[in-house]
Amino acid sequence: MNFSELGLSKPLLEAIARAKYDSPYPIQVQAIPSILKQRDLFGIAPTGSGKTASYILPILQRMQDKPQNKGRMIPILVLVPTRELASQVAEVTENFARFLPRKVKALAVFGGVSINPQMMKIYGTDILIATPGRLLDLLSKNSLNLNQVEVLVLDEADKVLNMGFKEEVDQILAQLPKKRQNILFSATSEESVGGLIEAMLQDPVKISA
Ligand code: AMP
Repeated sequence: MNFSELGLSKPLLEAIARAKYDSPYPIQVQAIPSILKQRDLFGIAPTGSGKTASYILPILQRMQDKPQNKGRMIPILVLVPTRELASQVAEVTENFARFLPRKVKALAVFGGVSINPQMMKIYGTDILIATPGRLLDLLSKNSLNLNQVEVLVLDEADKVLNMGFKEEVDQILAQLPKKRQNILFSATSEESVGGLIEAMLQDPVKISA
């Protein structure tokens, strides 16, 4: 299997080649076509499986022909458990976005650092990658609005729950529009994400690395 068989655009294939990804990992073969079709998806994928590219590439394709964001209405929200993962996902996103016909702005926000610079940077963000607690803080300061979220990703959902973020996730879900695409990844099992599959996903495609 080749990346060019997965339905990805030329600028993305160019970035994939520059990243020296020869062929897609199994999780990518399974996830990319379904996410491009805007299906909800549940994946069991540990770190190292290539899960980040499996959702970021089709999300970038969705964004590439839309006008650049000019406000604080965020179209794509990626929730992650830790600041390390947030920074890593933002970096991967920028790397894959660099040959797209328009600038796609990705931003990582997380706790443990001062909130003001993050508040200022949110303006114009297309893809916000956030830890749950900091996202709620930013929402309480009206730094962004989630009414127009088109795609929600919950990455390492088992870890998000293990770290005690269930209530924060529920509060965030309550602020999202009903009609949206949902992508949920767990490193371990279906059981480890509690009721989130039923609460978050509609008729999901289920895959595992
Ligand atoms: P992840 O599971 O998303 O954290 O990715 C694990 C590592 O695999 C990262 O260093 C990626 O850059 C790398 N990677 C992901 N997909 C591929 C691929 N198809 N070919 C080669 N390396 C990849």
